[in-house]
Amino acid sequence: MTTPRTVLVTGGNRGIGRAIAAEFVAQGHRVAVTARSGEGPEGALTVRADVTDGASLDAAFAEVEKQLGPVEVVVANAGITRDTLVLRMSDEDFDTVVDTNLGGAFRVVKRASKGMLKARFGRVILISSIVGLYGSPGQVNYASSKAALVGMARSLTRELGARGITANVVAPGFIESDMTAELPADQQAEYIKTVPAGRPGRAEEVAKAVAWLASDDAGYISGAVIPVDGGLGMGH
Ligand code: NDP
Repeated sequence: MTTPRTVLVTGGNRGIGRAIAAEFVAQGHRVAVTARSGEGPEGALTVRADVTDGASLDAAFAEVEKQLGPVEVVVANAGITRDTLVLRMSDEDFDTVVDTNLGGAFRVVKRASKGMLKARFGRVILISSIVGLYGSPGQVNYASSKAALVGMARSLTRELGARGITANVVAPGFIESDMTAELPADQQAEYIKTVPAGRPGRAEEVAKAVAWLASDDAGYISGAVIPVDGGLGMGH
């Protein structure tokens, strides 16, 4: 049994974020999710926020702090893709993905770090992607945003590590969700062929790794990149 914490997961209304929130609820934590629409899993508090809008995040944090107490574990999960080949990628395609995936994580972490510094405890978990370090054609925007999260976690580790705060990256591989369901069937089959485990991953499998990083057992792990990818990214 790990110490119950106040946890905030961004993008917790569906997919991997929802599974992460459900896992924290199952483990007995006080859990809140941010959502632009819809609701988080049963047992979690849902607050409205768009990660591209700092004011909405600030209001969401204030609501969580009021109802559940200061945020001790933050999971920056909200993310988008806008895939296309680099020659066709507009500045807007690039900027929107980077502003959501990287800028969103920055805003969330910055807001959470205030309370964590005061408490001299915190767990920051950034949901990156195998693609950040492995690369992927058609994903120059997405891969750049996800690779940058490694630099963010490692800089946070160096900056905040002595204050009882850890910062880690979880890098999922090919996980069944709305995001991967959008890919053409032949592309999905191609990806799965390259996964040593021979199958896509489940959101719940990502959630277990995230919950472990937040647990008492993982207190001396920081600046790490934990793959949850069935062996897809070995060495990356
Ligand atoms: P989904 O597309 O199923 O869910 C994305 C979530 O992010 C939704 O809750 C969505 O909210 C939220 N979101 C998107 N933009 C914003 C925003 N501006 N503000 C607030 N919330 C936002 O994706 P997954 O569950 O598959 O992905 C979750 C994370 O995991 C992402 O960061 C993704 O990059 C990463 N990942 C996924 C992989 C996969 O194979 N599925 C592999 C590797 C990484 P809304 O419902 O309102 O749109």
